[in-house]
Amino acid sequence: MTKVIGLTGGIGSGKTTVTQILKDSGLPIIDTDILARQVVEPKSIALKQIRQKLGKDNINTDGTLNRALLRQRIFNDSEAKLVLESILHPLIQAETVKAIEKHKKNNPKLIVVAIPLLAESFEKNGQLPSYIDEVWTIVCSLEQQLERASKRDNSNKELIQKIIEQQASPEARLKIADHVIVNNGSVEDLKKSVKMLLQ
Ligand code: ADP
Repeated sequence: MTKVIGLTGGIGSGKTTVTQILKDSGLPIIDTDILARQVVEPKSIALKQIRQKLGKDNINTDGTLNRALLRQRIFNDSEAKLVLESILHPLIQAETVKAIEKHKKNNPKLIVVAIPLLAESFEKNGQLPSYIDEVWTIVCSLEQQLERASKRDNSNKELIQKIIEQQASPEARLKIADHVIVNNGSVEDLKKSVKMLLQ
C-alpha cells in the first residue's frame, strides 16, 4: 500500500532542499506550489474567477496573473485573501488528488506531497486533507530561517520576519507532525536525517 506523506515547514526551513533529496532517492514528488502556479495559467477557470470576483486589474494585459498586485492586495485585505483562497484551494486540492492517483498506479512505497500551508489548513479546517497519511515537518532555528530565506530571496530579514509572523507557528506545525526533520546543520546532515527517516 502506498503511503502519502505531507511535507511541510515554514519559509526557509528547507522544504525545497528536502524535496530534492527525496526526488534524488527516486520518490514521486508532488509540489503544491507548482500546482498553485499551474491553476492560474492564462485562460484558466481560476483566472476567470479572480477577474470576476477580485477585479480585472489583477490580470495583466498579456492574460497572465498580476502576482505582485494580488499579493500586495491580500497582504492588506483579509476579505480578498479569503475570496482568493476559496477560488484556488479547491482547484489545487483537485489537482493534488489527480496527481496522487496517477502516481499510485506505479505502486510506490511513498508519495511525497510538499504542502507549505498544511498547518494553516489544519488550523482552519480542524483536519488534514483526507489523502494525507502522515505528516513530516521540517524545522530549523529562527536565526537560520531568517539567514537562509533572506539570502535565497535576496531580501532583508525584516521582510522574512514579517512573513514568518503571518505563517503558522512552529508549535502548530509540530502538533500535526508524525516525524520532525531538524535542519540545523549542514545540507549533508540533512541528507543523512532524510535517508534515516526513509529507512
Ligand atoms: P523552503 O523551500 O522551505 O523555503 P529551501 O529548501 O529553499 O527552504 O531552503 C532555504 C535556503 O536555505 C535555500 O537557499 C537552501 O539552499 C538553503 N538551505 C537549506 N538547508 C540548508 C542547510 N542545512 N545548510 C545551508 N543552507 C541550507
